[in-house]
Amino acid sequence: MSLELRNVTVTLGRGDSRTTALRDLSAAFAPAALTALVGPSGSGKSTLLAVAGALLRPDSGQVLLGGTDLARLTPAGQARLRRERVGYVFQSGNLLSGLTALEQLLAAASVTGRAPRAVRARATELLAEVGLAHRLRHRADQLSGGERQRIALARALLLEPELLLVDEPTAAVDRERAAALAALIAEATARHGCVTVVATHDPVVRTAADHTVDMAALHPTGPA
Ligand code: ADP
Ligand code: ADP
Repeated sequence: MSLELRNVTVTLGRGDSRTTALRDLSAAFAPAALTALVGPSGSGKSTLLAVAGALLRPDSGQVLLGGTDLARLTPAGQARLRRERVGYVFQSGNLLSGLTALEQLLAAASVTGRAPRAVRARATELLAEVGLAHRLRHRADQLSGGERQRIALARALLLEPELLLVDEPTAAVDRERAAALAALIAEATARHGCVTVVATHDPVVRTAADHTVDMAALHPTGPA
């Protein structure tokens, strides 16, 4: 399984705010590898993650995941892909505010057909690995932004996706935690053989990555 974008163009916004976020961009992301996606703010990293995860349909071009063009899937096919094959770890965390940290993981597992009881031990272990052993029974709305994003990471790793998309995982944590998170993502990638793309400004993540893709090299004169 690999991920390849071919000649992808994405425009965002309307009227005066209309922006070409990605212009005729081509990039390949290796299987069973962690790729650090780097580049200045506004260079299109988040947009690339959204297109790669079928959250956003490109204006033109192909988004090939293991040979399937995500841009051509029906809305139902895209929804199924998002549910079954892709793990998202975005800065907002996308958590259910009424549930505890542990319940976030159990609920996600149950939606994908796993019995919550069977995954409880693994969920607890993953929350400990992201440094949240003392937060299992805190509700998401009682936790900080950095903590919520780490719950989202543990949740994604529990589901063992084929494609793992992570946006700035170390922005809200201290340096020691950042190194631990980068190592955890790298190790999970190697173990499960997923394609992992991490948008980051953090040299610690770049060091842990197998490859680096630089938006500045793909868009030498800027996207717009
Ligand atoms: P990065 O993640 O590298 O900071 P983004 O993918 O967020 O970059 O943004 C790429 C470009 O698209 C930027 O110029 C940004 O201002 C623009 N952009 C992002 N979201 C929107 C939107 N909803 N409407 C208009 N322009 C947008
Ligand atoms: P971060 O730098 O990780 O974003 P914050 O400064 O936002 O951290 O939060 C610091 C600590 O305060 C965290 O351990 C978090 O669990 C706790 N905290 C934040 N908001 C709340 C809240 N509404 N209720 C209880 N604890 C909270």
